[in-house]
Amino acid sequence: MKRKLSSIQRPFLLHISGAYRTTPTAALQTILGIPPLHMQVQFEARFNSIYCQRIPLPSFITGTQPHDLEMKATSWSTHPSEYLKPNQISFEDGEAYIARKDILNIFTDGSKTEHGVGAAFCVLTNDIWAYQWSAKLNDNNTVFQAELTALHEAVIYASHLPNHNTSKIHVDNRASIMASSNSKSTNETARKILKILLSNPRIKVSWVKAHACNIGNERADQLAIDATQHGQPYSHTKLPKLHIKSLLRKRMLEEWQTSWKNGDTGRKIYNIMPSVSLRPTNWIREDVIFFSQHGHFPAYLKRFHLSGSDYCSCGGIGRALHYATECIYTVSWHMRKPAPNFEQEWLKRVANNLVILFQKNNLFTILKFKTKSFL
Ligand SMILES: [Zn+2]
Repeated sequence: MKRKLSSIQRPFLLHISGAYRTTPTAALQTILGIPPLHMQVQFEARFNSIYCQRIPLPSFITGTQPHDLEMKATSWSTHPSEYLKPNQISFEDGEAYIARKDILNIFTDGSKTEHGVGAAFCVLTNDIWAYQWSAKLNDNNTVFQAELTALHEAVIYASHLPNHNTSKIHVDNRASIMASSNSKSTNETARKILKILLSNPRIKVSWVKAHACNIGNERADQLAIDATQHGQPYSHTKLPKLHIKSLLRKRMLEEWQTSWKNGDTGRKIYNIMPSVSLRPTNWIREDVIFFSQHGHFPAYLKRFHLSGSDYCSCGGIGRALHYATECIYTVSWHMRKPAPNFEQEWLKRVANNLVILFQKNNLFTILKFKTKSFL
């Protein structure tokens, strides 16, 4: 299958790069930043296995335990006859905070900074800060997950309060309110929140405008930001789909790197570019020809039995490097010739160093000149 897929991919790689038809596939893949097709297929298959067929993969592939991954829930979370009271959910701002003895105001927030991900809620009753909670989530969790986690912890807290208390939870994130009031939401945390709200009609959820100098919202915001750095670790929120995709991509790159390192074709390119990457090099056709040494050079023509001699008409061996550094017919385009033991280093430098780009311009001219002279 690997061979079959490779033969499908190869013509595309040749056309994209403009390389000679003898250039090894492995070299073209590295130059273009396109992984071998069978590895791309495997990447898709692994992702589908986890999220479509729900067959967990061993942790050595994903780098995580299967039960740590966030999965989409299906079907309805509750019976259609169960629904929230009309006043339980509100998207109206303005009724943000009413100081009443019998109402507990709870403010939630989630935050993601360069330090990490944090979730928090704080409780305001009778103008007194009665309670606060905050936690540091996994760095790979999303800010939406943090918002939902904060709301989930807040409804759990409110559901444990004595029965005569009404609590109003103020959330500055519309998406998490919508998910938590929707019985068809695919988010597991949102479903848990809905279940608690259904059995506790005295818990109300209301939207509040963020950064509008609302003391409760500001405090929750600050708590969540602080928690991104110093919060207690919280591990109940699972890893998002996007993160798994990046882990699987990393795994694919490792496999590609191993096969590039241990391969036996495309070694001239390997010596210049030992690491694979999904970012293509900015090489143009002439660069590919020069560095792969698959082009109209006598040494190449001899190797592929298209010519009896590998000598240049000047008497030297007609390799790519010959024309770039020593051939008497290309003197005006010459670059400084490397010492024999430094040839590899020299090629690497020419290929990677943008500072000497102006010298690469020479290189194009040499190749065009040679190609013409052979045609
Ligand atoms: Zn020559």
